[in-house]
Amino acid sequence: MDKWIKKDLKYVWHPYTQMKDCRALPPVLIERAKGFKLYDAAGKYYYDTISSWWCNVHGHNHPKIKEAIKKQADSLEHVLFAGFTHKPAILLAEKLVSIAPEGLRKVFFSDNGSTSVEIALKLSFQYWNNTGKKRKKRFISLDHAYHGDTIGGMSVSGVDLFNEVFSPLFFPSYKAPSPYCYRCPVNKKRSSCTVQCIDHLENLLRNKQDEIAALILEPLILAAGGMIVYPVEYLKKARKLTKKYGVHLILDEVATGFGRTGKMFASEYAGVRPDFMCISKGITAGYMPLGATLTTDKVYKAFYSDHEKRKTFYHGHTYTANPLACAAALASLDVFKEEDTLKKANELIPVFHKGIEGFRGLPFAGDVRYIGMIGAIELVRNKKTKRPFDPRERIGVKIYRKGLKRNLILRPLGDIVYLFLPLSVKRKEIDYVLGETYDIISSGGGLNV
Ligand SMILES: *Cc1c(COP(=O)(O)O)cnc(C)c1O
Repeated sequence: MDKWIKKDLKYVWHPYTQMKDCRALPPVLIERAKGFKLYDAAGKYYYDTISSWWCNVHGHNHPKIKEAIKKQADSLEHVLFAGFTHKPAILLAEKLVSIAPEGLRKVFFSDNGSTSVEIALKLSFQYWNNTGKKRKKRFISLDHAYHGDTIGGMSVSGVDLFNEVFSPLFFPSYKAPSPYCYRCPVNKKRSSCTVQCIDHLENLLRNKQDEIAALILEPLILAAGGMIVYPVEYLKKARKLTKKYGVHLILDEVATGFGRTGKMFASEYAGVRPDFMCISKGITAGYMPLGATLTTDKVYKAFYSDHEKRKTFYHGHTYTANPLACAAALASLDVFKEEDTLKKANELIPVFHKGIEGFRGLPFAGDVRYIGMIGAIELVRNKKTKRPFDPRERIGVKIYRKGLKRNLILRPLGDIVYLFLPLSVKRKEIDYVLGETYDIISSGGGLNV
């Protein structure tokens, strides 16, 4: 075993990893990256087909973003953000407000996706407190939702394999069935349904409106829950219902923000204006950790008061609005403009979708779904009955291993193989990645199933 890997296994504990598995399949030591490729110490490359956990946007080692970070480091690397401020944060807040859905006019910075969600939950809760509606302290979220790994984020996520063990720690929250069309919770067909799956949510809102602070949703795709793409009408209706019943709508755009779905923010497809929007991952194009929670003037004003009225939002993180991260985010937004990133991506998105459609005929491909630069194939043991694979077969692990051999990073979510491509991906890279992925999951590729 390589001496670096030996040392890694001696000292490091990796996320989402059974460290015992690392004996047989050690982590890959990456030394550098450029564009769509990661290079390991031996010079072998891997296509970064999941954008380094969904955050890389313009490719790796982009000269403009790199320069911006270097330049910022020459003047100010960090400063506390209470009582002090700095230009990168001010400029970034202004820019974010200018590109966000209308009505979101205030930016509260943090340093990752989970914290951006915690902040939205706490702001919503305290808003109702500050406005005299103290009973409103519960949240609604969807089955299969994912909103982060902190206790608050987990409390409003769908309970699954990952967080089941922590469930005794969660605060109580309401769950609504998710618009999972392939496994419709109300047994309808997408081609003829009128999103009746939302009825349960409406009942909850109607019956519990006095105790509900907010509904939290990932717009248009439940990402970590299985890349479940859902109808725009669901999101539109959810906004109408939350307004009708006096409940906040929190949109968690941590995974979908910054162009991944083909628009800057996924909520644009539905034209909805949330009360809160959480962003992180792609905000710095994957170069620095940063999070932000955007909200309305109305929410802001409910906290704006004399000190002794105790309406202040007492929350903050040491690295709130880190200047290096803000500089990277500003540079990324410049790249969006200069390189016409969204327009170029939208020329290739149909090519990607057409390619992934071609997977439908594969013997184990139960469902194929996609939005923007995200595409997923839900593998099942039996296509007719939609029966899943036995988890003990560890299909995902087999695919991961095969992917690595063919220069791809496929990290299936259970039996759901997905691609989460950077917006800068080239046509021939899409063709190559789709071809190899097809080969791996077709029986001819030797899934041994
Ligand atoms: C990844 C993710 C989070 C959590 O972000 P972290 O930066 O990993 O804490 C929250 N919400 C959604 C929708 C995500 O995809």
